[in-house]
Amino acid sequence: MQELDRTTPGATELPTLTSFDPATGEVLGTVPIMGPEQVGAAVALAREAFPAWRDLGFEGRRRKLLALRDTLVRHKDDVARLYTRENGKPLAEAMTSVLACCDFLAYYAKHAAGLLADEPIHVSNPLQKNHETFLTYEAKGVVAVISPWNYPLLLAMAEISAALAAGNAVVLKPSELTPLLGVKLGELAREAGLPAGIFAVVTGDGRTGAALTAAPVDRVCFTGSVATGTKVGQAAMAHLVPVTLELGGKDPALVLPDADLDFAAQGLVWGAFTNAGQVCASVERAYVHQRIAEPLIAKVVERAKALVVGNGLDPKTEVGPLINQPALERIEAQVADAVAKGARVLTGGQRLPGPGTFYPPTVLVDVTPDMLVMQDETFGPLLPIISVPDEAAMLAAANDSPFGLSATIWTADLDAGKRLARQIQAGSVWINTGLASYGNPLTPRGGYKESGIGKIGGRHGLLEMVNAKLVDVAVHGKPKLWWYPTWPAMVDFVSAGVDVMHGSSIGQRLSGLGKFLKSRR
Ligand code: NAP
Repeated sequence: MQELDRTTPGATELPTLTSFDPATGEVLGTVPIMGPEQVGAAVALAREAFPAWRDLGFEGRRRKLLALRDTLVRHKDDVARLYTRENGKPLAEAMTSVLACCDFLAYYAKHAAGLLADEPIHVSNPLQKNHETFLTYEAKGVVAVISPWNYPLLLAMAEISAALAAGNAVVLKPSELTPLLGVKLGELAREAGLPAGIFAVVTGDGRTGAALTAAPVDRVCFTGSVATGTKVGQAAMAHLVPVTLELGGKDPALVLPDADLDFAAQGLVWGAFTNAGQVCASVERAYVHQRIAEPLIAKVVERAKALVVGNGLDPKTEVGPLINQPALERIEAQVADAVAKGARVLTGGQRLPGPGTFYPPTVLVDVTPDMLVMQDETFGPLLPIISVPDEAAMLAAANDSPFGLSATIWTADLDAGKRLARQIQAGSVWINTGLASYGNPLTPRGGYKESGIGKIGGRHGLLEMVNAKLVDVAVHGKPKLWWYPTWPAMVDFVSAGVDVMHGSSIGQRLSGLGKFLKSRR
């Protein structure tokens, strides 16, 4: 807890929160619940450290970020194990997240200089020729990253790596359900030699997140639920601090009648049940063409039944636990509501005996749009399937949601898939695949509608971390025609300019040119 000693006055006397292993209920550790004083101290230290980090330049930061990547690689086994113990995901999935964190660090370390190079603007207006005009990108200052528990390292790292590579200092607030992973990241950053204050971790609960949003930071990057994101967005806007909101989803899968059924069933099962369905971009509802509904559902059920549920540390496990008891109760409430309204459970549907919060992969049919499971984010291992008569009905149902995070399409006709993709109201659409972009640092993603504002990943994600400054240089500094003093024919001159540049016929443009020359100063 060296990080806390350095950045947080009085941290040792604070109340604490406990981190549990969701597979066993075992206590993994405790961390202090930091309040405004400790958060303010971390932000102040970050602000102090910021100028030197910014001035280190891309090359200096590249070396430090690659050192952080190397440190993560050295500790990958410990980190993945802690990931599985604190979050529940199977060890192979945890190691995949570690790999993606390394990818993000390497990508932004190596490419930030090119992605943020000055951008020349060629101004075509003849009255502004002989100008050298360009955009230059500058780090904002202190970036607050508030992250959820479902991919605690990966989602945080996607923003941390972009923010640091662009020259910002970062203060991270991990979820109260996975704080030890956040603390671990702080330790790795120290071991990698990141300067003091450039990356700080503040632990605690929602109050700590609220304190960080209210602190004098220069950008807030929030990933979490719509409800909390709305509060965070409002709090940031109260100080006119820009905010990125990566929020929840109710993501549809659309299965067209020409789809390869074995392949589509495999994709749906993975998309719905990976990380026990606790993925913002999980397949949360499937619309299947009625011609193939029966055989496809049979294949989905067969595959869902075969999944091995258990402790993520067991190499046989394919689906780990839910994060906690409230998550289990939310899933049970959605299933109970669906069954009460006429849905049938084809597999799963009952919690598994503890210890640990396990719920099996569950497939529901005869679902209707009024059921909670078709409206609210489930964030658990439920796959409701609806049979629909045609593509138009599928599209209308998919878009009939306040969310717009992502969608998947399953078809053999890639052109038809692409046509459909353009009509779906979502920030990412995957054809014959799913979720792939989340671990890829090159692919920007974000939500439409209530699923969020702004982008993570790629150049778009990096641009969220900088201010774009316009620099306009009049190379041969001479007074402009429109500078004082005004001359009597100036209106005619400008009016002729409108004709010359935008006249609807050659005649109007030529006549404008004559007037233009006559009315010059
Ligand atoms: P959450 O409850 O909204 O919490 C997200 C983060 O916000 C946590 O660190 C939380 O701290 C903190 N927080 C809580 N109240 C706050 C406040 N008033 N001010 C500032 N921060 C506050 O979400 P979650 O349950 O951790 O995550 C699940 C949700 O995240 C789902 O809706 C999922 O779809 C969404 N998600 C979206 C994406 C995406 O990329 N679009 C990715 C992953 C997850 P505590 O945990 O300590 O309360």
